Amino acid sequence: MKRYQAIFFDWDGTAVLNRTAPVDKAVAAMAPLLDRGVCLLIISGTTYGNIAGGRLGGYFTAAQRKYLFLGLGRGSYNYGYNTQGQPVQVADPGIDETTVLRIHDASYQIHRKLWKEYGYHTDIVFDRPNYCKIDLMNQNTRGQSLFLSGDEVTQVQAELAAHGLNRGIADLLDLAQAVGNELDLPLKVTCDAKYLEVGLLNKSDNVDALLNTVVLPRGIRPEACAYWGDEYLKLADGLNGSDSFMRTSLSAPGDFFDVGTVAGERPLWVNHLGGGVDCFLDFLRKQARL
Ligand SMILES: [Mg+2]
Repeated sequence: MKRYQAIFFDWDGTAVLNRTAPVDKAVAAMAPLLDRGVCLLIISGTTYGNIAGGRLGGYFTAAQRKYLFLGLGRGSYNYGYNTQGQPVQVADPGIDETTVLRIHDASYQIHRKLWKEYGYHTDIVFDRPNYCKIDLMNQNTRGQSLFLSGDEVTQVQAELAAHGLNRGIADLLDLAQAVGNELDLPLKVTCDAKYLEVGLLNKSDNVDALLNTVVLPRGIRPEACAYWGDEYLKLADGLNGSDSFMRTSLSAPGDFFDVGTVAGERPLWVNHLGGGVDCFLDFLRKQARL
């Protein structure tokens, strides 16, 4: 087994089952690698408060925290830790309030177009850092498991087609992109079936920022990095799952692994292992023994 010097990984569904599940197993698997100076970088769409109840730093020693980083909020936050164990930005994407409000305007325009032209009703979550979530399935709450589950793609594709968006998610992405063009805003739009996410950044920005500010300056080469997630699955033409955004021109020489258990097509460059959280934590434990 190859020995990696930096491991990027998704949190919900990859390191823990969901955000309320105990983190002990993940912490126990991570600590020996941090002791050895392996960089661990959590890449998640959520915010710090939703990772281990906002107390992740407290699970590790000051020495271990020097190698622990988080890329969160769809490109908005890139954290390391200060000596007191508080998360601090190591790379700020610098999106100002005016731009955030323009993203809100774009999201409303998308909502309005879907309502008026297709009779498709959505809801918008504005309270996210530098992006909006447009809820495509208002009736379907995910409960505690805030990640993609089996039937959601089929459900939303059928629902969109029933409203005249015959190419489903692909049509939705085109529509959102057109709104961005009208407003002269270079939108990065992703979709995980339930939510259409509209902003100027995504997980690619987290990965590139952390590679540039943390990993590469330590002399770690891109090919010594691994990237683990549970959502690489192809969702529509031209759109793979959110973890696939960890692959950028800079990170591409690394190795990509999918522990997702939903059946379907994945990009050719990802190793689909399945097995969920157990598979990923087992990999961490094996790395620590190399
Ligand atoms: Mg996940």
